[in-house]
Amino acid sequence: MNYLSKICRSIQPYMAGEQPQDRKYIKLNTNENPYPPCPGVEEFIKGFDCDRLKLYPDPNSTALVTKIAKKHGLSPKNVFVGNGSDEVLAMCFPTFFDKVGDGVAYADVTYSFYKVWAKMFEIPSVVIPLSDEFRFDAGAFKQAKCQGMIICNPNAPTGLIANRLDLMAIIEANPEKIIIIDEAYADFCNCSMANYVTKYPNLLIVRTFSKSYSLAGARCGYAIGDEVLINGLKTVKDSINSYTVDRLTEGIAVKALENSKYFNAQVDKIITTREIYADKLREIGFNVLPSSANFLFAKHNEIKASELYYQLKKQGVLVRHFNQARVDDYLRITIGSDNEMEALMKALNKIISDAKTNVKSEEE
Ligand code: PMP
Repeated sequence: MNYLSKICRSIQPYMAGEQPQDRKYIKLNTNENPYPPCPGVEEFIKGFDCDRLKLYPDPNSTALVTKIAKKHGLSPKNVFVGNGSDEVLAMCFPTFFDKVGDGVAYADVTYSFYKVWAKMFEIPSVVIPLSDEFRFDAGAFKQAKCQGMIICNPNAPTGLIANRLDLMAIIEANPEKIIIIDEAYADFCNCSMANYVTKYPNLLIVRTFSKSYSLAGARCGYAIGDEVLINGLKTVKDSINSYTVDRLTEGIAVKALENSKYFNAQVDKIITTREIYADKLREIGFNVLPSSANFLFAKHNEIKASELYYQLKKQGVLVRHFNQARVDDYLRITIGSDNEMEALMKALNKIISDAKTNVKSEEE
């Protein structure tokens, strides 16, 4: 007897980065923020009245939706919130794509969850290759035969950005298609298309509190777009789970939005660190793609990425290695604090010098 559905039996789930509990690692593998959330978040949690947990939260998350709307100069009708942007993105699939239809287009090298959701919701995938240098092929997206598309910008795991004029051309050339832009990392560059949601009724922007707001553990993400798109998402949400954002998380996210000074300072710090360590990695033989995100995508000119990953882990430094076509030569390294990045450099220098010594002794 097999009690599992055909999809459950056949799907290859998304592999989240490791969250090992066995020892303390320097965690540069899941693009978390190395700095704590703003002080208002801690005050909120300390002052939270536990008695309130006996009641369900507001199913519309009105306080948070209102705050997000204000941040983007929109109406609350243009905002949808969820349990992390993964949940918001997952809900986009049944909201905007049909099982029998032209499908969802996305790049071959991008956030690997898109293909899992397409499979899960039985929606055809239209996979569009990036260029040899992982550049976004705007022409191919513009002409793609699909019901709609998801573009990750900045892209993961490359950190590269698509040109704003190219994105506008795609949106304008395809008014009958939904264009979803996953802006999980957009706060680390100046590439957001959030200002365009009032201009384009077919544009939906998805964002998260996990990275730039240091709230990966609170699970909160949101979408902004035309009211018709947002109402569609609400219909799907209310057909799955009415209470996706819990009381604590809603309050935490509201507090995070109230401190833009702290937010900007942390984001600036990460960008500064990113540029310093991109150069330092280049100095020790890495080819580092120019990053617009809170991580670096880098390939060493002598040592295999799988070997570096393994040796780094042995030294207590976790980075991400994808065992996948096109990217298996690369490591994705999250930007940590200066101390964490120095520990990474120290470990890498040791691995590289050990490798050189080994080669030398083999030659002798
Ligand atoms: N989009 C991209 C491109 C990501 O890398 C991530 C983080 N894994 C997410 C969305 C989801 O983030 P969260 O669910 O924490 O909001």
